[in-house]
Amino acid sequence: MNNTKLIIGLGLTGTSCAAFLKKKSIPFIIFDTRPKTEVDDRYIENEAENIFFENIMKKDLINVDEAIISPGLDKSHKVFKILKDLNINIITDIDLFKRSNSIPIISITGTNGKTTIVNMLQHVLNNIGINSIACGNNGISPLLIPSSQYKYIILELSSYQLDYMHDYTSYISLISNIDQDHTDRHKSIEQYISAKKKIYKSTKYCLANISLKENRINLSDINTISYYGINSKSECIIYDNNYKNINISNSKISYNNLSLDYLGKHNLENILAVLSILNIINIELDDSLAAFKDFLYPSHRIELIKETNGIQWFNDSKSTNCASTIAALDAMKNNTILILGGSKKNISYSKLSKNINNKVKLLIYIGENKNYIKNQLKVDVRSIDASTMQDAVQIAIKYAVRGDSILLSPASPSYDMYKNYQIRGKDFKNAIEKYVI
Ligand code: ADP
Repeated sequence: MNNTKLIIGLGLTGTSCAAFLKKKSIPFIIFDTRPKTEVDDRYIENEAENIFFENIMKKDLINVDEAIISPGLDKSHKVFKILKDLNINIITDIDLFKRSNSIPIISITGTNGKTTIVNMLQHVLNNIGINSIACGNNGISPLLIPSSQYKYIILELSSYQLDYMHDYTSYISLISNIDQDHTDRHKSIEQYISAKKKIYKSTKYCLANISLKENRINLSDINTISYYGINSKSECIIYDNNYKNINISNSKISYNNLSLDYLGKHNLENILAVLSILNIINIELDDSLAAFKDFLYPSHRIELIKETNGIQWFNDSKSTNCASTIAALDAMKNNTILILGGSKKNISYSKLSKNINNKVKLLIYIGENKNYIKNQLKVDVRSIDASTMQDAVQIAIKYAVRGDSILLSPASPSYDMYKNYQIRGKDFKNAIEKYVI
C-alpha cells in the first residue's frame, strides 16, 4: 500500500496522529529519533509493531506517501534528507486536522502568553454560550476532539509548529508579542519572526500587540494588521480602537459598571487580546467583560501559592525567557526575592538588570546556568547560590521580612533539574508547604 503515513516523533503529537489514523483506517509507521529506552513506555505499548527507533532507511519508506512531523524535531536531522530524496511531503498534525475541519479557527502565537490567552478565550466564549475549545500547543490534540460540536476552534501555535505547517487557514490570527527565545532552533531573531509571521497567511482578520508596531516589526507584506494593547501614551486599544471610556488602574480594568482584576500589565494585554477577538466576532464589550467572571489563570504563571506573615510566595515556573520574568517582576508590588536560573539557553540576560535593580532585594540563583546569567547581569543586588529548590526556599525564608514577595521566575527551562516546568513548580510548592510556617 503506498498510502502509508510516516509519523515522526512518538510523544503527545505522534500518539494523537496514530490514534487519528487508526480511526480512519489509514496505514502508518512511526519513527522516533531517540533510542527505545528514552521513549515513554506508555507510548510504545500501543504502537509496538510499527516503530523504528534511532534510524530509519530509505527501504523502510517505500510505501510512504507523507510524513507527519512532531514540532520538536530539529530541521537539521538526517531524516529530512531521506524524505527529500524520496520526494515525501512533510506535514504537521495541524495540517492533517485542517483537512477535515470546517469550523472557523482562531490561531494564537507569541513568545509569551499563548496558553493564558487561549484559556481566557475558551472560558469567555463558553460563558457567553459560544461552544469553543482551545487545543494545539497547549497539549490538547486537535485530532482527538469532537470538533463538529464547536462554534470556534482556538489553536495555540508555537513557532516550531508554524515553521513546519502548510495550511494556515484561520478566521482570526493573533501574535501576542515577540521577544528573544528559541535561538537554538531559529538561528536569528529574523528567522524567529518570519516563523511567527506565517500565522497570518490565509487569515481573514490579523491581530497583533501594538508593541510590535511600536518596535517597528514588519509583520506582513500581504495582510492588513489590526492592533490591540497599551500604546506608548498608556491608552487602551482594542481592535484598532482607542477606548477612552475604559478605565485602567494598576490592577483593574473598568467599563460602565463592570470591572475586572488582573495581575501585571502583561495580563491586561492578554485581556485586551481576547476583547479584540470578541470585538471581531461582534460581542458587545459589556458582555465580553462580564464573561471573564470566574476565570482562573493557569498554574505556574505568577501563581500565588501562599501568603503568611505578610510575605507572598509566587510560582512562575513557566517563565523560560527574560520577557516573562520581566513581566513577573513588573507585576510584583513589593520588595522581591527572586529565584532565577535553570537549564542553559543561548539568550541574553542583560536586559533583566534594570528590572532586578528596581524590584529585587535578593537574588537566589538555582540551576546550571548560574554563572552564565551572573556574567551578563549588571546588578547592585546581593546574590546567593542555592543547590536545590529546598535550599532556595530555605534561603528565602531566612531573608524575607513582612511586606516582601518571593518569586520563582527562572527565565530558563527546567531540564537541568526537572522533566518539565510543572514538576519544577510542584517542587517549589512542596518546599513552601514543608518549610514555610
Ligand atoms: P506561553 O504559552 O506562550 O508559554 P503562558 O501563558 O504559558 O505563555 O505564560 C508563560 C510565561 O509568560 C509565564 O511566566 C507568564 O506569566 C508569562 N506571560 C503570560 N502572558 C504574557 C505576556 N502577554 N507577556 C509577557 N509574559 C507573559
